[in-house]
Amino acid sequence: MKPLVETLCVIGPGLIGSSILRRARLDPSIARHLIAVDRDAHVCDRARALDLADEITQDATAAVADADLVVLCVPVGVIPVVAAAIIPHMKAGAILTDVGSTRGSVVEGITPYLRPDIAYVPAHPMAGTEHSGPDAGFATLFENRWCLFTPAMNASPEAIATMEAFWQAMGARLRHMDVAHHDKICAIVSHLPHLLAFTICNTADTLADELRAEVLDFAASGFRDFTRIAASDPIMWRDIFLHNREALLEMLDRFSQDAQAMADAIRQDDEATIVRTIERGRRIRRNLIENKQA
Ligand code: NAP
Repeated sequence: MKPLVETLCVIGPGLIGSSILRRARLDPSIARHLIAVDRDAHVCDRARALDLADEITQDATAAVADADLVVLCVPVGVIPVVAAAIIPHMKAGAILTDVGSTRGSVVEGITPYLRPDIAYVPAHPMAGTEHSGPDAGFATLFENRWCLFTPAMNASPEAIATMEAFWQAMGARLRHMDVAHHDKICAIVSHLPHLLAFTICNTADTLADELRAEVLDFAASGFRDFTRIAASDPIMWRDIFLHNREALLEMLDRFSQDAQAMADAIRQDDEATIVRTIERGRRIRRNLIENKQA
């Protein structure tokens, strides 16, 4: 059977990149030959030990030369830098994609380096955990999760169809939307919750020493769920916050107003508002479970 692509090259075999490779290892209809690229020799050794790909190298420019599909799985701040380095070495007719969590800044950063004979089809899988690195990935990470496509640049319908089939083979559900819409949605469902988790852990940690001990002692309550999110990689999240600045700050303003409204309701013994707000939260949780996104 002819695979979707002959050679798949993943740059950055961390949580997302190694999950793509693991899935492709299990499903030969995705690619015949797998290449993984990491700048760090130790990470390459680990990727070899995990048997993530047929070829594992630190040399990105050589690795992309024969690739039919190159997937950039590095932090959003360096996606344009890596793209600029590899695009001149890619073969004509190949597809370039990235999994970055922000779209506006990445598309703007990559655009100056695009070539007319290479299709750029950005697609962001909405799946992840708080873990990072090649050991963190797993083949079912994208199962039933959304993969958000934003308008492809320089891409033929065939290249877009290949990428849709690729993400379907990863187990994902597909949705197309424009860049600004993507960045707003991700700001509210992912970036703001992470900002809140990092901040609440910081707030707890800066309280007095004796209280800090209590925070740790009693962390099994709601606080524990925040600490799981707050365990995420600092560089990746620094980049996401700085590269989705406008949408994130807009959502933070909205959240601050709603938090203030809740504070007012508590101050004024406004039971109806408090109950209405909590009920809305419960409804959202039930909907997520019904949609198999919980
Ligand atoms: P990760 O596990 O930390 O892996 C990041 C990879 O990028 C590693 O292979 C790392 O190499 C490489 N890298 C880091 N800085 C680099 C640089 N300056 N030059 C070249 N390579 C570099 O991260 P991840 O969670 O897989 O995230 C990767 C991408 O997926 C990011 O763009 C992120 O926004 C996006 N994403 C993440 C999630 C999530 O929940 N985690 C979900 C969807 C999309 P070393 O090992 O050598 O450091």
